[in-house]
Amino acid sequence: MPHPETLAIRTQHPTTPNREHSVPLFLTSSFVFDDAEQARALFAEELEGPVYSRYSNPNTDEFVRKLCLLEGAEDGIATASGMSAVFTAIASLVHSGDHIVAARALFGSSHQLLTRVFPKWGVTHTYVDGGEAEAFADAITPATKLIFVETPSNPGLDLVDLEALGRLAQSRGIPLVVDNCFSTPILQQPIALGASLVVHSATKFIDGQGRTLGGAIVGHKALVAEARFLARHSGPALSPFNAWVLSKSLETLALRLEKHSANALHVARWLETHPAVRRVRYPHLPSHPQFALATRQMRWGGGVLTLDVGSYETARRVIDGLRLCSHSPNLGDVRTIVTHPASTTHSKLTEEERQRVGITPGLLRISVGLEHPDDVVADLRAALAVGSKEVVH
Ligand SMILES: *Cc1c(COP(=O)(O)O)cnc(C)c1O
Repeated sequence: MPHPETLAIRTQHPTTPNREHSVPLFLTSSFVFDDAEQARALFAEELEGPVYSRYSNPNTDEFVRKLCLLEGAEDGIATASGMSAVFTAIASLVHSGDHIVAARALFGSSHQLLTRVFPKWGVTHTYVDGGEAEAFADAITPATKLIFVETPSNPGLDLVDLEALGRLAQSRGIPLVVDNCFSTPILQQPIALGASLVVHSATKFIDGQGRTLGGAIVGHKALVAEARFLARHSGPALSPFNAWVLSKSLETLALRLEKHSANALHVARWLETHPAVRRVRYPHLPSHPQFALATRQMRWGGGVLTLDVGSYETARRVIDGLRLCSHSPNLGDVRTIVTHPASTTHSKLTEEERQRVGITPGLLRISVGLEHPDDVVADLRAALAVGSKEVVH
């Protein structure tokens, strides 16, 4: 089997009679049939092939095939966003009366789905704190139909021990669904550790340049079939254009993640020495409470770190003092982005909910980009000087 870098570059839709080198964009909503019999056979799923772009399209197929190879997955589907991947994966696995066990530290919208949306259909959940498999085992009931985690979590960078949790999930026969957005298959491959499905927000590191929304569900064939059925009839299809962009982006994913990780580690180490910074969190810093797990589970530390500057007021001044770094809710971009989770991405949580997942008023999330890290450090140094100076008065 070729290496991931090669698979991501050399997996391509077959060349058309035009002999193009780069895959063309199949911007078409439907496909024509050769004859009535072919149409019947395609709809009966006796034949494989594109029919209608809500079901599949050569560009989305190529994107999914590459991602499956990188994640070590049997099958997959593309979705319009990360949240449509999370929703479709969960909704395809649960019925009214079922129960979900989930890590408490989740992306804000995933938390809204579990606490506000699924309960409307009688699907309940239990949150687990910490990344140990034993705590998940204690939360499982006879009604538990899936385990859902995100590791590292957004934005707290809490880890879950995937190897131990994968073993537990397999021994209980409960599908483990992992949101692999922060790590991507370049840093960790949850399916090899026992996960049944991996969901992605391709909007982040997979796109890598902040251009398109996108998502994917990949994993075991039988479970992907359930998700595909739901997606086919509910319609969260990824546009061919976005799939084309994302498939191209996968070609540079390994290269980018290595550099994002190196730059983030550089910035994290520098921040740890800054007197105005109370706490820095980054998976591959020895000060991370799960450093041993992080270095075992993740090839590199990833592109995201957090720091605590003490208060919302200081965080505001630091953000407003930035000149190079962007202030935006996205992450995984070539441009370094600073976000204040408590007032933006996680503002819909209650104060207590935020506290329980470590989102303090002074917490800033930095998605370290691919600029020269010294320029990022210089911008942060100037912004932190502005932010902390005014505190003295
Ligand atoms: C951004 C994000 C999502 C949602 O993805 P969208 O593409 O914005 O819908 C889900 N999970 C995690 C961990 C994320 O960071």
